[in-house]
Amino acid sequence: MPALERPLIYGNLRKPGYTVDLDCYLRHGGYEALRKAVAMKPEDVCKEVETSGLRGRGGAGFPTGMKWKFLDRKSGKPAYLVVNADESEPGTYKDRQIIYRDPHQMLEGIAITAWAIQARQAFVYIRGEFQHGAKILRRAIEEAKAKGFLGANILGSGYSCEVVVHRGGGCYVCGEETGLIESLEGKRGYPRIKPPYFPAVLGLYNCPTIVNNAETMAQVRHVLAMGGAEFAKIGIPGDSGTHIWGVSGLVKRPGLYEIEAGKATFGELLFDLCGGPLDGRTFKAIIPGGSSTKILRFGERFKGKLPNGQEFDWALEDIPLDANSIAACGTGLGTGGTIVLDDSVEMIQALANLNAFYAHETCGQCTPCREGSLWLSRISKRIVAGGGRDEDVPMLLDIANQVAGRTICAHGEAVAWPVQSAVPKFKDEYLESVRRHRDGTAPASPQLI
Ligand code: SF4
Repeated sequence: MPALERPLIYGNLRKPGYTVDLDCYLRHGGYEALRKAVAMKPEDVCKEVETSGLRGRGGAGFPTGMKWKFLDRKSGKPAYLVVNADESEPGTYKDRQIIYRDPHQMLEGIAITAWAIQARQAFVYIRGEFQHGAKILRRAIEEAKAKGFLGANILGSGYSCEVVVHRGGGCYVCGEETGLIESLEGKRGYPRIKPPYFPAVLGLYNCPTIVNNAETMAQVRHVLAMGGAEFAKIGIPGDSGTHIWGVSGLVKRPGLYEIEAGKATFGELLFDLCGGPLDGRTFKAIIPGGSSTKILRFGERFKGKLPNGQEFDWALEDIPLDANSIAACGTGLGTGGTIVLDDSVEMIQALANLNAFYAHETCGQCTPCREGSLWLSRISKRIVAGGGRDEDVPMLLDIANQVAGRTICAHGEAVAWPVQSAVPKFKDEYLESVRRHRDGTAPASPQLI
């Protein structure tokens, strides 16, 4: 059987003795891709990224080259690059590994991207709690500036770009690109309405801005190193490169696994790499790509058609690990942060945890999100506390249906999707939980999320 893992982004940090120092990065071919990039025209760098088929790794999976194309270059305003290193989606912990253990890889991608979009100022918006990560990044930036990879006159090209690390205040909606921009401007992290506030046109300081995820920057470095056409050969058509799967929850070997897109299945990830369920347990469900993605239940069949016309009929274990296949099964690859639930988990308790999180993190601008998340949390907590009624279960679904699609930002979907997917799939269990908590016979469930 071929190796399931293909470390590309984690290639260096998996090597014994690899350190965060610039010298170490240079010994492993560091900043050669930047050298190549600044010898090219910026528009040709953009073309390479477009050819690569790279999709953003922050959760939405939007094609990176296309995003760069949307940048308003005619406005005469300066362009900014903002790197989203907020990583606050529960279940997600892949970007911080790059920052903590291979920061120059990300910085090289930032320098290449800044050159491609001709940004003279880049920001890394890092989650406030990543104090140590911010320190590592600031040190790495100073090292890179001292050698001419960042700052003034990069590699003698005459082009300059400063990179500033900005620590966020610790708020989930600041991971949403327009909320992040507001926060970076020193304001409350209130997401903006699109249109008109598409960052590529009206972003930071109302100037054209590209917001890319931290891992996406590292991927860009590899696109330039190997060329867009070669990069596109990794993975499958429509989803190139590798995905880092951050598995957490009730498996024998939780951890980070980097896999070529579409070249393994959830079964191989969860059983072969993660070692399967804990002794005496069976898998019940997964939340595949961070807590806001729709839940998948073991035992259900997934039938449909892929974008290439291919029909499928899969068990959860058969679903290939690529964006299109996972989307065709009614959920999303998201950030690849897979949360595993086994038969010891009572679904109402897991849902109550999620609902409490989203209710806590709503910014409160939109009524459906503010009120809906609060009521979902209150009702699910009430069920766990033994005060539930049978009608609470359909009511959860009804409330979620009134939130999704009616809000300024995707937090509304994040509030609704766990409920909209879990309640129909586990309806009988939820009704049973209402009764058992009322009777005081419900089992204790592990705290997962
Ligand atoms: Fe704020 Fe929620 Fe509206 Fe997003 S959807 S802007 S988090 S209230």
